[in-house]
Amino acid sequence: MTDREAIDRAWDELVATARRTVADGLVVGTSGNVSVRVGDLVLVTPSGVPYDRLGPGDLTAVGLDGRPARGTLRPTSELPMHLAVYRATGARAVVHTHAAHATAVSTLVTELPPVHYMTAALGGPVRVAPYALYGTEELAENMLAALRDRTGCLLRNHGTIVYGGTLDEAYDRTAQLEWMCRVWLAASSLPGREPALLTPEQVAAAGDRLRGYGQPG
Ligand code: 13P
Ligand code: ZN
Repeated sequence: MTDREAIDRAWDELVATARRTVADGLVVGTSGNVSVRVGDLVLVTPSGVPYDRLGPGDLTAVGLDGRPARGTLRPTSELPMHLAVYRATGARAVVHTHAAHATAVSTLVTELPPVHYMTAALGGPVRVAPYALYGTEELAENMLAALRDRTGCLLRNHGTIVYGGTLDEAYDRTAQLEWMCRVWLAASSLPGREPALLTPEQVAAAGDRLRGYGQPG
């Protein structure tokens, strides 16, 4: 595959992933954003453009320094968060959403209590980054601190940000995170009852087992 073909294919996958966030109810309208890294290029959703209108001619990409590299549309306003993840980790894809249950949880706690073993799929109990204005370097800094040893975090009064080795992995982890937030909200909503939580050892054991999850090879 040529570089050109790899970039075109990554763009198609990015658009499909962005559309999925809307179809699955993880965002409304043009909220949220998606990026994927191809070599030293970062392909990103353009700011404020409905995902169903995006086609091959809308390819938008920047360098790791944020300089425009492809396309004429303005990149997502959350470029500082996406670039901070690529600079600090081995991520190949980043998904940011305003998923409803995750956003609700972000207003209630500083860490999502480990109610389910899929906590391990994000590297451990998911932290909540302190609030900062969207699109700012301050938000990117708060996010990076909350991401330490994790593949995702919540952003207070805002949403989720999750990364992975592929767009599918980043998307699936996002969906699992939103689902766990929903479970915790449901379990903790009964008056006078507190959900049982997993111990660090139980989360670690699930993490070990998840490494061999699914089909061999
Ligand atoms: P963009 O449309 O600029 O990507 O912004 C959406 C968003 O979620 C900002 O936090
Ligand atoms: Zn946002």
